[in-house]
Amino acid sequence: MAIYEPTIGLEVHAELSTNSKVFCSCSTEVGVPPNTQVCPVCLGFPGVLPTLNEKVVEYGLRAALAMNCEISRPSIFERKGYYYPDLPKNFQISQKRSPLGTKGYLEIAVDGQSARVRIADVHLEEDAAKLIHPEDDPQHSLVDFNRGGVGLIEIVSEPDMHSVAEVEAYMNAIRRMVCYLDISDARMEQGQLRFEASVSVRPEGHDELGTRVEIKNLNSFRAVLGAVEYEIERQTAALEKGEPLYQETRLWDDIRNATETMRRKETSDDYRYFPEPDLVPLDIDDEWIARVRAELPELAEPRARRFVADYELSEYDARILTEEKERADFFENTVKSETPPKDAANWIIGEMLGLANKRNEPPARLMEYLRPQGLADIIGMMNTGTITGTAAKQVFAAAATTDRSPSEIVEQECLTQISDDEAIASVVQEIIAEHADAVENYRKGKENALKFLVGQVMRKTKGRANPQAVNELLRKHITGE
Ligand code: ZN
Ligand code: MN
Repeated sequence: MAIYEPTIGLEVHAELSTNSKVFCSCSTEVGVPPNTQVCPVCLGFPGVLPTLNEKVVEYGLRAALAMNCEISRPSIFERKGYYYPDLPKNFQISQKRSPLGTKGYLEIAVDGQSARVRIADVHLEEDAAKLIHPEDDPQHSLVDFNRGGVGLIEIVSEPDMHSVAEVEAYMNAIRRMVCYLDISDARMEQGQLRFEASVSVRPEGHDELGTRVEIKNLNSFRAVLGAVEYEIERQTAALEKGEPLYQETRLWDDIRNATETMRRKETSDDYRYFPEPDLVPLDIDDEWIARVRAELPELAEPRARRFVADYELSEYDARILTEEKERADFFENTVKSETPPKDAANWIIGEMLGLANKRNEPPARLMEYLRPQGLADIIGMMNTGTITGTAAKQVFAAAATTDRSPSEIVEQECLTQISDDEAIASVVQEIIAEHADAVENYRKGKENALKFLVGQVMRKTKGRANPQAVNELLRKHITGE
């Protein structure tokens, strides 16, 4: 049987986090009542004129340069005509055919292997309004024009991906990139990142690509991955059985976990593109490009590689730390105050993410309370023996959820380590007296019994006794050596 190779390309729409829309001054705030952030421009009244938002251009430029694109001089806004209730002007202003940036690439990593996904183009456009289909009233649909006219960037990849894992890595890379660049909040649940996938399958070794299927309206990572996986299987099965495949647009059904035909097309859609007569061509000067390029932050992938090289972290740790920019900043700021990098990484990945998860809170909130200096202090107190590891975890939990500093917590809750042998010895004797069975078992050679007794001493001292001293003293008192 032949082996089949899938080929996948992705289009990503990311809603830009500028304060106002792309061609008018309406606010882009989310969570406000429907149709309260609208004006004649974004409602498409006759005779109104669009004014290009400079911030939108700046954000688009950041993305294009971060993905190593060539910047077009000029790029051109055109009217893309189509008729739909979410589009009051009956056209969308878009740079689709004359994009801001072209010929870029994005690095992704799958199983420790890095790969390059070429970026065909990055362009600016306006978002459509939001259609709402009330479940209790299937006869009607509602339109919220608050979203209409919000700035978008569309990132179009070349068909360079060949597995679901690569698609997932690419989507993560895009999400991380827009967050690091601070150009989109990328909130999936609010539809701020939306995807379209094109999938084809061919027998391995064939030069020509297989029949291409487009899947529209994918609003979550899960939907993209589900749809791509489903299409690879469906198309492979059809090829194996010798059944025909059609070039078509399909929709993903989240409930049935399947794609279904939306429309088959013999020819491409006719959007009747022509240049938007009310906007001049966009020609960004060298100075602007140079400034944005110079101000680009270090992105997640190179930062992860640097963490491995500079701090001798594992790739796994480096990747988790750079997943969010705030987290990576927090780590580096902790390390700046003389904290061993491996310790800082362990505490952030183990304790901080664990606690955030347990409390169902964003890690950012814990970081705000704790601050890098706080974590550095906790690790410092532990490494110098001021507090035990057990106490350090208590201090951490308190410092990450209240306004108190670690040293205040240690003082207020009397958490300093007890290293004084006499003080520990008296607790050790108490525990020996209370647990004759365990003592007997240890005498018979059961090492676990000693662990149990150590645990009891630690409990009685609220985690403050020096564990090494406890071990030694227990042994000495039981065996008399
Ligand atoms: Zn408006
Ligand atoms: Mn688009």
